[in-house]
Amino acid sequence: MSAELRGYLKRHIIDHGPMDIGSFMSIALGHPRYGYYMRKDPIGRAGDFTTAPEISQMFGEMIGVWCADTWVRLGSPDYFTLAECGPGRGTLMADALRATARIPAFRHAASLTLVEISPALKAVQSEVLGGYAPFWAEDIDILLESRPVLLIANEFLDALPVRQLVRVKGAWQERMVGLVDGAFAFGLSPASAELVSLLPEGAEKEEEGSFFEVSPARNLFVGKLCAKLERAGGAALFIDYGYDRRGPGDTFQAVRRHEFCGVLQHVGSADLTAHVDFAAVHDIAVNAGMRVFGPVVQGAFLKSLGIEVRAQALARVASDKQKAEIVTALGRLTGDRQMGGLFRVMAVCADKKIELSGF
Ligand code: SAH
Repeated sequence: MSAELRGYLKRHIIDHGPMDIGSFMSIALGHPRYGYYMRKDPIGRAGDFTTAPEISQMFGEMIGVWCADTWVRLGSPDYFTLAECGPGRGTLMADALRATARIPAFRHAASLTLVEISPALKAVQSEVLGGYAPFWAEDIDILLESRPVLLIANEFLDALPVRQLVRVKGAWQERMVGLVDGAFAFGLSPASAELVSLLPEGAEKEEEGSFFEVSPARNLFVGKLCAKLERAGGAALFIDYGYDRRGPGDTFQAVRRHEFCGVLQHVGSADLTAHVDFAAVHDIAVNAGMRVFGPVVQGAFLKSLGIEVRAQALARVASDKQKAEIVTALGRLTGDRQMGGLFRVMAVCADKKIELSGF
């Protein structure tokens, strides 16, 4: 299948000329037949990458605690949509819902919506979460506006396409993917004014050869979601690899079988992501009238929700081997040099008077 995808992309480039990184990423990941996410379950030891909820049940449990707490802060609405974007194997949501089993009013009020494009992952989600009668959609457009929304997105924003601008001889060029001798290769093309307008202030002062990333697709998603929250009420939680201050850098990356590889190397059989520009997300949310919390590092967020106490409780009833696993998992999720320090957490809330936990 990845051969078909490569063939499709090459044909596209031959017919229409070099394509921007964003189009390349979006087709490579999301082509309805040949895209990386369409074909298989990429998550876990047998796949290409491991995510926080797959490391330990404690992660999803803490998100469950956050959701129930936020629901109470929103005034315990009788009905609300509990939504997740890119739920992967459904592990996070299953752990979150199990952790809230003792709050029946929360569970009764929630109707579950899963926003997912991958048929392979939808099948896994259906097995894991089928008991909660979820509704699947491919876009947040369908979220009802007649009831508040609580939305979770872990490692979702990083899958939305970015575009890259490069400073060359005092002007902005856009990085493109073309073909050289039949193989994918990077090139440059003059950047459109629209794209340049998305750069942070002062970007033109950076030195020759500097890369900047902008993500019209991510901006559009966050803008749409905030408009939705403005009308429906509610809050959203984003957790991702990313940066707080906008600056130069090339974070477009590929991971295959738990190892980094070249982004043009294993097209169709490697996951492609780019770090999230949380400053851009912040600005869009504030402009859309949201109150924004964070970003804080994942370790601080999880600790403030009580992950260490949860780890102790689990350890009390665990075997020695399990105890060691709990300690390792806690370290990975909260350690400064591990996910705990690399991942960032940000929340947006439509009601400006509400404080949210974890920040
Ligand atoms: N949140 C999960 C999975 C992260 S992987 C976890 O933490 O384990 C990214 C997820 O986003 C996958 O489920 C993938 O299929 C989904 N996805 C990627 N692009 C998407 C898009 N444009 N719309 C909806 N889902 C998308």
